[in-house]
Amino acid sequence: MAFVTRFAPSPTGPLHLGHAYSALLAHDMARAAGGNFLLRIEDIDPQRSKPEWDAQLRDDLAWLGIRWDAEPMRQSDRMPAYRAALDGLWARGLIYPCTCTRRDIDLALGAPQEGAPHHGPDGPVYPGTCRHRPRSGPRPMDQHLRLDMAAAAEPTAFAETGPGHAGTIATTAQGYPDQIGDIVLARRDFGTSYHLSVVVDDAAQGITHVTRGEDLFQATAIHVLLQRLLGLPTPVYHHHRLIRDETGKRLAKRDDARALAKYRAEGATPDDIRRMVGLAP
Ligand code: GLU
Repeated sequence: MAFVTRFAPSPTGPLHLGHAYSALLAHDMARAAGGNFLLRIEDIDPQRSKPEWDAQLRDDLAWLGIRWDAEPMRQSDRMPAYRAALDGLWARGLIYPCTCTRRDIDLALGAPQEGAPHHGPDGPVYPGTCRHRPRSGPRPMDQHLRLDMAAAAEPTAFAETGPGHAGTIATTAQGYPDQIGDIVLARRDFGTSYHLSVVVDDAAQGITHVTRGEDLFQATAIHVLLQRLLGLPTPVYHHHRLIRDETGKRLAKRDDARALAKYRAEGATPDDIRRMVGLAP
């Protein structure tokens, strides 16, 4: 079987040791399989994405010895593909417009009859306030669009090769509305979402194996459902462990202290970075 994997950073801050681990692991897996490693720049959020972070991350990856086998895909170039996917879901009545603010949602969930809210991959399960809103006519461009999970959900399954859960992971149709809820597929401010874009682009890049952190394990259930709805193939998933700081907290973009650029400036070599993240040089 062909093996095509990818690293998909958002250019919103410096790459840190956690990114280095993810990128090196994916790259090593592609090379070991005689496959391809691709890069995708996830810059759908124009407020947070910066060209200088894009340039820096490419430079850091090249320094680590990572080579990508095709011109990187840039999500900001891919809006027509996201719009086409959303148009199809809208025509099928599976997405609906939503004007709720975070505060509206908190208030609805805080109502005494609601009980304790479930938390899904994107936060508390949406209480469905806007679910009754009309789904006909032109697709609204200036509101969030949510996926109607009760209408869209079906049982799904995917193959997982990561250390924590290796095997076949199955979901039930009921799990989607109950545990994930009506997630936002298009944000009003930039017309798409992480979930929609990642699914459309993994298919467009011919990704057969998705390698990424186990913090995204729950999001994968959303992605597998979207693949079904959009008629796209489901890759094999490998959710890897996270690199944590000495207190056990996972590294975030704001952890500049662990930025690769800082280690580079202090004279670390790529093999030092490999050792630090537990990958043999
Ligand atoms: N841009 C996402 C991130 O940096 C990529 C996640 C994924 O691999 O799907 O977390």
